[in-house]
Amino acid sequence: MKKVSVFSLKRIIVIATVLTIGLFFVASSVQSKEGRSVVRAGTARIDITPKKPVRMAGYGSRKGLSTGVHDPLSARVVVFGGTPLRGNPNNSKRLVLVSTDLIGFYDGTAENTRKVILDEFQLEPSELFLSAIHTHAGPSLTINKEKGHPNNLEYTERLKVKLIEVIRKASSNMGPIYIGAGIGYSPVGMNRRELRFDSSGNSSIRLGCNPYGPTDKEVLVVKMAKPDGKTMAALFDYASHATCLGGKNYTISGDVLGLAEQFVEKILGEDVIAAAFAGASGNIDPWFRVLPAFNTEPGWIPEPVLLGTMLGEEVVHVFRDIGKVSGGGEIATAFVTLELPGKQRNETTIEKDYPPTPLNITAARVGDIAFVGIGCEVLTEIGMAIKAASPYKHTFVISHCNGAAGYLPPEHLYVEGGYEIRSSPFAPQAADIVVKQAVKMLHEL
Ligand SMILES: [Zn+2]
Repeated sequence: MKKVSVFSLKRIIVIATVLTIGLFFVASSVQSKEGRSVVRAGTARIDITPKKPVRMAGYGSRKGLSTGVHDPLSARVVVFGGTPLRGNPNNSKRLVLVSTDLIGFYDGTAENTRKVILDEFQLEPSELFLSAIHTHAGPSLTINKEKGHPNNLEYTERLKVKLIEVIRKASSNMGPIYIGAGIGYSPVGMNRRELRFDSSGNSSIRLGCNPYGPTDKEVLVVKMAKPDGKTMAALFDYASHATCLGGKNYTISGDVLGLAEQFVEKILGEDVIAAAFAGASGNIDPWFRVLPAFNTEPGWIPEPVLLGTMLGEEVVHVFRDIGKVSGGGEIATAFVTLELPGKQRNETTIEKDYPPTPLNITAARVGDIAFVGIGCEVLTEIGMAIKAASPYKHTFVISHCNGAAGYLPPEHLYVEGGYEIRSSPFAPQAADIVVKQAVKMLHEL
């Protein structure tokens, strides 16, 4: 008798949960159908290839300056805004997505660059996603007058001027758009936490290839078109480091993600903006990784080009399959700075406790398409957890966005150790706090 009642209770809970989830979806679809706001958007791209030799970012072993350019670096911008309607203050919301072919905004350059942009355009902190594709074949940014190379200091100053210019250009060509999203898959990324054994049989996690480790193969694509059907932009989110090229390379390149952007623009037309966003890729490298150079053997397709093209072709496949586009939907944004607990001595082999580390999380949606920007280098399990719990079908999780606070690994990997755990400033419980916060923000948008 007792068993039956427990069973019934369980059934009631299950039914109630299903009903609640069902009602939520009904409510959200009604909201999006009835949302009268019309999305407007503008796009622009600007060249940010260094004109002078620069210190390159990403590998401590690399000492000299860049010696040449394989392919150009760009900053790509999409500015979204609502059409002002009486009685709907949400329509004054803006959302500025910036994708740069850079490693990231390290050493205080995120705060510095963001402030310049926020002030110039009178944006709320939540309305700007300043992100980088994490190429390790680009310049390092610096505002450190003592330690920074003069060419890098000059580059960083000039970059701010260029970002203002490109955002202004995108803001000035805004008009009504149609927008939709689609999902594809790509095997370009590989989990890099390889288990190795030394001659005594002791194991350790090294940077390499781990075919058993998780990878997020999803390629999320957003299609933007003008009302006359003319293609404006393809935005895509994929979880891989842009590290086909290693520390022996001195040639400037967007690496796999930059080359994918360039491929998509070549196919869809040079006036189309193809902006990449690095997903949760802290422990994901490209299938071919840290190579010394672009291989010029006759008949050989250099690996960054091969993988960039492979990813780019999937983006175009998905883009061309996106049939359902809509002209409506509200813009909503949110921004939080968390103070995350630091790593403690007893947790790893470090000599002193890390202080709490601030981390920026930015969330936004345009209609039913969501974006979560995280100001650090997020390991892939965390991005997958956010996507799985997101109330939106299409959720861009964007690493290296609005900050560069270091590696954020999931708790269960601390026992294994390895590079990302050693370099992380965060305590093991930090990842759970971030996932919960990001999901909460998505629900409240
Ligand atoms: Zn990295």
